[in-house]
Amino acid sequence: MAAELVRGAPIATRIREQVAEALQRAAVVPCLANVVVGADGASLAYLDAIDRACAKAGLQSRRVALPAGAAQAVVEQALAALAEDRAVHAILLQFPLPRGLDAAALAARVPAGKDVDGVTRASLGAVLASERRQVAPCTAAAVAELLLSDPRLAPDGREVCIVGRSLVVGRPLAAMLAAPGPGGNATVTLCHSKTRELAAHTRRAEIVVVAAGARGLLKPDMVRPGAIVIDVGTHPVQGPAGPTLAGDVEPAVAEVAGFLTPVPGGVGPVTNAILLRHVTAAAAPGYLPPSW
Ligand code: NAP
Repeated sequence: MAAELVRGAPIATRIREQVAEALQRAAVVPCLANVVVGADGASLAYLDAIDRACAKAGLQSRRVALPAGAAQAVVEQALAALAEDRAVHAILLQFPLPRGLDAAALAARVPAGKDVDGVTRASLGAVLASERRQVAPCTAAAVAELLLSDPRLAPDGREVCIVGRSLVVGRPLAAMLAAPGPGGNATVTLCHSKTRELAAHTRRAEIVVVAAGARGLLKPDMVRPGAIVIDVGTHPVQGPAGPTLAGDVEPAVAEVAGFLTPVPGGVGPVTNAILLRHVTAAAAPGYLPPSW
């Protein structure tokens, strides 16, 4: 039997409604600055989507686009100016950055109060300390939100396998799902490119989250029948009706899994809605609904 699809749209709509309510009480219109270094077509399309989402929600956004060859000091300067700018409430530094730039040093230039994607040490530390009213990386928070959206998906007590250990998805998500309390309490295995026998780990899991950036990595024979499969991967591809996205999970996994997030339409819309929530929280201290 085909897996039940876990769609992101209803969850994203609920988050946007919460944001609209919070904005009615906010004293200012929150402003997000998107910092991008050497954008390619795919990241520009993503930035356009963020701008549209902000405008639709009643948030301001501005773009700081630097050339691909920008020196570390130039990017640091741009971030310092935004850190000082009182009209900017939130800063989103787009990853991946071009080779040669020190990503950790740049992330450190984002003030904790303007960090909307959990890139600072303060935000990552808060995730590790299970402080649920702090900003976590949007994509990791989106996966947690999806799992919290339906009691049948609850991670509590379950074996979870996460494939991918990036600082924006896998590692914070592992901390979130292993944290004590609702939405956590899972037994987490964190896999990466040096993991031996990846399939042995994914097959054991009741929940598999794939965030590897490897198209079609998770195949049907790597999945336990009835498992919950969350596909974080996004790969621009040409579909029969034009450009679309493919995931890290092979479509045939739907024949084995019990639940599956589609790509597009699963994690992505929730990630974008969580970003709006975080931008609103940056301008309205005290507003951050309990989430993961
Ligand atoms: P990343 O920084 O490149 O990290 C990829 C991780 O996957 C690394 O830990 C890597 O291991 C691991 N990995 C790669 N190939 C593997 C393999 N064959 N077997 C096991 N592990 C493997 O990627 P990311 O930024 O986390 O993004 C992951 C994917 O999510 C990408 O497709 C990205 O486009 C997508 N994404 C989607 C959203 C959304 O909202 N839907 C948001 C952000 C990202 P090592 O550490 O050993 O190298």
